[in-house]
Amino acid sequence: MRTKEEYVESLRKMRRNLYHNGEKIDRDDEQQLPALNVMGLTFDAAHDPETADLCTATSHLIGEKINRFCHIHQSREDLHKKQDMTRILCRKVGFCIQRCMGIDATNALNAVSFEADKSNNGSTEYHKNFLRWLENFQKNDLVGCCAQTDVKGERMKRPAQQTDPDMYLHVVEKRSDGIVVRGCKNYISEASIADEILVVPTRALGPDEKDYAVAFAVPADYEGVKQVVTIHNFRKREHIPKGFEGGYTDSYVIFDDTFVPWERVFLCGENDHGTICALLFALFHRHSYSGCKPAIGDVFLGLAALAAEYNGIRKSPHVREMFAEIIKVTELGYAAGFTASELGKPEVYIPGLGSCTYGPGGYIPESIYSNVGRCLTGEAVFHEAEMLCNIAGGIPSTFPYERDLVNPELKPLLDKYLRRNPDVPVEDQIKFWLLYADMTCSSAAGVGTYGSYHGGGSPIMEQIVITLQYDIELRKDIVKKLAGID
Ligand SMILES: Cc1cc2nc3c(=O)[nH]c(=O)nc-3n(C[C@H](O)[C@H](O)[C@H](O)COP(=O)(O)OP(=O)(O)OC[C@H]3O[C@@H](n4cnc5c(N)ncnc54)[C@H](O)[C@@H]3O)c2cc1C
Repeated sequence: MRTKEEYVESLRKMRRNLYHNGEKIDRDDEQQLPALNVMGLTFDAAHDPETADLCTATSHLIGEKINRFCHIHQSREDLHKKQDMTRILCRKVGFCIQRCMGIDATNALNAVSFEADKSNNGSTEYHKNFLRWLENFQKNDLVGCCAQTDVKGERMKRPAQQTDPDMYLHVVEKRSDGIVVRGCKNYISEASIADEILVVPTRALGPDEKDYAVAFAVPADYEGVKQVVTIHNFRKREHIPKGFEGGYTDSYVIFDDTFVPWERVFLCGENDHGTICALLFALFHRHSYSGCKPAIGDVFLGLAALAAEYNGIRKSPHVREMFAEIIKVTELGYAAGFTASELGKPEVYIPGLGSCTYGPGGYIPESIYSNVGRCLTGEAVFHEAEMLCNIAGGIPSTFPYERDLVNPELKPLLDKYLRRNPDVPVEDQIKFWLLYADMTCSSAAGVGTYGSYHGGGSPIMEQIVITLQYDIELRKDIVKKLAGID
């Protein structure tokens, strides 16, 4: 397993294909350092005795101890541990831990590549390709990101109906040595600091959309791949350090007639399995949200509780109501993920067929609970932001800049006028509101709120899955019996 330093060192050697705000930047550009701190923690945590058990696993493939973010779940315990690892690490960085896209995509592709080969009666070698790729991924402790979301062009049209066929990534040429793909995947978190980009389809695909049913992995600096990066950092600190300096990046990943050799292709043309691949990555990812959203709830509750204490309003009934609201969503989201882990098995729900064994035995979280949990926590995001705004008052939005806080002329005055609770040192109150501003009303917080709402699929996507897969007929029968209807 690598250390954070080894990981960052390897990024330094990558080809320069990151474009940001008018220039090309290096992986270790100063603006990317906060994001590297977040990803770096996933390496440190695997070596830290306090978190090593949660953050490591024994590979079923190479038999070695590996970072859990590279692991294929072999049991319900693995699913529980992924959820708990996610919550623990997200608490430490105060927001998203960034590496879950890789574990979620690899677990989906493990199953899909296996089943597609089976359907093709052995005429394809997707799973062999995938396992060879996975061996390298696990041995070298690589970071994967998942490029699922296509730009999608005209929203009401399917991929094959688009005016411009490139609105969804697709195969434009099949050659004896590989395929050529064209398209753009957008909002791809941490692609700019990943080793590998895993590409999977966005949505259900029909028989006329076989060229869109493609999944593969390429290095993040691969020839023919351009990344247009947005970087979300907090206001820079010089004098009043905080406990953890984190940040985030997202990329438009452009595949401009990119050649992908067959040994890196895990699906090509099987639209039924392409559909399952899209749903399966989303399912694993929604399960990951049952770890990260509760952690963000933990941070929000801590912010709300300290704000109430520093504002001297702890005993107000409306404050208790807000605490209860945050706790309810946090723990119901966690409980849904816990249940999804506990009911996990190597099965997926296939429309028309119901729950079917799928893949070579890797464990898949139960779908209804993964989706209701993600839907609940996703829909709560803006209400939580509203409660944090309510409890704080206006202070985080207009808090003085750091250099004014330490200016000898202003410091005594600001210390006097920023003090609220006389029992708490004013230095702590200042540190607290600076963090509160970062977490609730900075530009990075705005991006985070959008991510918490749409990541893994907007709430409408979970509503569709829940209502399609839930046994509504059973509930109709219950009521018919109660009503005396035959
Ligand atoms: C910060 C952030 C990070 C992300 N990270 C990743 C990542 O790492 N990897 C990745 O693959 N994706 C990532 N995503 C993408 C995320 O999964 C998508 O944002 C989500 O699936 C919604 O897609 P969209 O943004 O294109 O919105 P849209 O799908 O365009 O939705 C906009 C509105 O249009 C409606 N709409 C769309 N299509 C239809 C239709 N056919 N009929 C009726 N209404 C429709 C929607 O319901 C919604 O109300 C990230 C997103 C964010 C915000």
